[in-house]
Amino acid sequence: MDLSYILNELGEDRELYFQAVAPPIMQTSNFACKTVEDMRKMLRNESEAYFYTRGNNPTVTMLEKKMAALEGAEHGIAFGSGIAAVSAAVLSQVNAGDHVVCVKKPYSWTNALMQRFLPRFGVEVTMVDGTDPDNYRNAIKPNTRLLYLESPNSFTFELTDIAAITALARENNCSTIIDNSFATPLYQNPIQLGVDLVVHSCTKYIGGHSDAMGGVICGKREVINQIFEREYMTLGAVLSPHDAWLLLRGLRTLPVRMERIAATTRQVVAWLEQQPQVERILYPFLPSHPQHELALRQMRSNTGQFSIALKTDDLHKVDRFCDSLQHFLMAASWGGHESLIYPAAASYNSGNYKSSLNFNLVRFYIGLEDADYLIKDIEQALAKL
Ligand SMILES: *Cc1c(COP(=O)(O)O)cnc(C)c1O
Repeated sequence: MDLSYILNELGEDRELYFQAVAPPIMQTSNFACKTVEDMRKMLRNESEAYFYTRGNNPTVTMLEKKMAALEGAEHGIAFGSGIAAVSAAVLSQVNAGDHVVCVKKPYSWTNALMQRFLPRFGVEVTMVDGTDPDNYRNAIKPNTRLLYLESPNSFTFELTDIAAITALARENNCSTIIDNSFATPLYQNPIQLGVDLVVHSCTKYIGGHSDAMGGVICGKREVINQIFEREYMTLGAVLSPHDAWLLLRGLRTLPVRMERIAATTRQVVAWLEQQPQVERILYPFLPSHPQHELALRQMRSNTGQFSIALKTDDLHKVDRFCDSLQHFLMAASWGGHESLIYPAAASYNSGNYKSSLNFNLVRFYIGLEDADYLIKDIEQALAKL
């Protein structure tokens, strides 16, 4: 399917709404049936009509269709946040007594789900360094049901060989889930590499303007329908029609935003490589990166995230560098128009896994500003080191 078709036409039925170019926000919780027979059909799942928004809503359905198509998946289901999608996907694949192998250092609330939440319900989790598929292999036990991936992961951007892990999953009768938020469906398509369920935080690049939250799971129709019946309807973390509409609007410009962000990031990284105050750059698209070849094999492009290690062992200097940046906002998240930093130093001694990272690490997200504007800002802040 053409990318342009997916982003501009798929799932949009303008006949139904006065040929409006922008779809309506179907801001309703409820839909009425005309007859008892209509309602019966609805309750037997024999009807395509809408019934209740914690279930189906036309604006949300449009987003689900586009996200599924972008991932080359049969079906998609949207949630009110990325972590709601992650949690529902994981819960759908495990029962008490099962075991999960999860990549180390995933998104922080995925980490909490794995290490603090699942064990309360009798699900055991082993966290492994995902850079070597043998670590997954060695962690598999007779009761292992799920292999969970995030590639690249959230702060240090290590990659996992997706095809190697899905082969391992098939040998061992496990399912696989990947969090693909980092790469977007434009730059990495894990279903083609054999992954069962792909999860996105749409809050990041899909929305793209830091003004909406959402998540999605993409996969086989049968599996998504089962998630709908169980986790989706009972946990109820639905996406609001208004946020779905903002995410749809974000999708219209996703390719141009990603191209621009990727190009600016390459310029900023190339400049940072020349700076003596920078000890190391964690960015899989540098030829010197140990996983560069894998990055080229399974991703189509870099995006806007990387981390740098500042050449200092003085925490105060790290603080001074970060505090001195004028145009990079200091914040969580990424994927919007605005460039950001997230210093590991802020999590130092927090008990979060990030506190195990070196405090000289600073995560960068490059937004839509001009490269020179951003480089000048980093230059003046580095001078304060
Ligand atoms: C932000 C993020 C999430 C969670 O998404 P929310 O929309 O904030 O709930 C999950 N995974 C990754 C990789 C993220 O960056």
